[in-house]
Amino acid sequence: MTQAIATTAALYRSLPAMDAMLLHKEVVTLKQEYGDTWVKTQLSNLLNQAREHIGQQSRLPEFCATPELLIQALTDELLNSQRHSLPSVWNLTGTILHTNLGRSQLSEAAITAVTKVMRYPTPLEFELEAGKRGHRDQAIGKILQQLTGSESCCLVNNNAAAVLLMLSSVAAGKEVIVSRGELVEIGGAFRIPDIMRQAGCTLVEVGSTNRTHLRDYEAAITENTAAIMKVHTSNYHIQGFTCAVDEKSLAVLCQQHQLPLISDLGSGALTDLSQFGLGAEPTPQKMLSDGVNLVSFSGDKLLGGPQAGLIVGDSSLVKKLQQHPLKRALRCDKMTLAALEATLLLYRNPKRLNQQLPMLRKMSRSLTELAQLSQQMMAELPESFSPYFTLAITACETQVGSGSQPETLIESLALTFTPTAKTGYRIHQLEQKFKQQVRPIIGRISNNQYWLDLRGAEQEKELISALRQVGQTL
Ligand SMILES: *Cc1c(COP(=O)(O)O)cnc(C)c1O
Repeated sequence: MTQAIATTAALYRSLPAMDAMLLHKEVVTLKQEYGDTWVKTQLSNLLNQAREHIGQQSRLPEFCATPELLIQALTDELLNSQRHSLPSVWNLTGTILHTNLGRSQLSEAAITAVTKVMRYPTPLEFELEAGKRGHRDQAIGKILQQLTGSESCCLVNNNAAAVLLMLSSVAAGKEVIVSRGELVEIGGAFRIPDIMRQAGCTLVEVGSTNRTHLRDYEAAITENTAAIMKVHTSNYHIQGFTCAVDEKSLAVLCQQHQLPLISDLGSGALTDLSQFGLGAEPTPQKMLSDGVNLVSFSGDKLLGGPQAGLIVGDSSLVKKLQQHPLKRALRCDKMTLAALEATLLLYRNPKRLNQQLPMLRKMSRSLTELAQLSQQMMAELPESFSPYFTLAITACETQVGSGSQPETLIESLALTFTPTAKTGYRIHQLEQKFKQQVRPIIGRISNNQYWLDLRGAEQEKELISALRQVGQTL
């Protein structure tokens, strides 16, 4: 027996003692930086790993060979545990507003505004001139009302929250009429029927998937009806034999029956986006002038701001929203409000938006500019990836993302990586390499090639050098 067991026992004994390690000069320094408990936990984890290693392999692991090596391992662990789970990445997926990558990037104006309210006190709920308590939505209310022509507004954490709040305040315990063609699922468990249930309303579906008429809505109105709701089918499109009732006609019907007309507009562009090569979107201002009483939309889709839900409309209805207990639970924090206001102020001069909103800047870049970037990449990169991958420039199409404008495709160029026959390198291994960078590079795999859509490129010098570095570590 015995020889092996005796050796293993000796190995366990040879492990540095916890207490002695904690008194080591360098470990004391680490404790000052990271805190006693955290250092102790990490050290204890390492010693446990070492014991496991001895049990399985009857020898000391490399990192425990000397106290110096153990301290090195401890330092590495501590550094690793400090790494942020939200690093910057390069989004070259071909989807600009990528929900999984944080949707819209903010303008410099918004970033500055957020930093300020983080650093210093700010009159979030205080009216400076009057010297009395104010309301947190009010400051932004002014610019939002100017831009949309609304009487009043209410701001919450996202558009899903906005829809929940509108329905809970206006129609809890009553019926809401919606066309069957508009029972949208957005993803992430946001479905109109589910939100209705959550808000305590009864959904009354009218019409069919492809066709709904004004008479369908009219026939569904009862004494229990609290509202008619329109949902912008932003993430799909029904084509062919279709018919939907526009807001103007519904507004007339609602007025006759003294019912509010509410609208979930989804992506909510505040200006005509066709000037930037995108499709036309219904705007909140158009909805309001067509007679809709409450309109809600997202802050971080086509608006290019922070995650938020914006509701604009009649002041009597907005007052109900503001007084509902859910509003307190769903209200925005000062960082969101500061970013939102700075973003909205840019909309005073829509022509310059494509210089200020990163999303529009990317989507409106010319092919010539992308071609220049691609040529630079082809001049500097293929050698580092040789002989494992062949690089090429291929035409592709960028999509908007976040369920916005599914039919808008913008011409673009991609840098593609094709594995060469002679090397065993797989495309998934390359993908891993890209993702393991300090600033991960995210593209997509298609056709056994790796695609980096250059329309998402930014900080190009750094990007090229990061790419070259990946090539050199293959
Ligand atoms: C995106 C979207 C939502 C959800 O908005 P979030 O801001 O992501 O919460 C709701 N309704 C429609 C029609 C949408 O397009």
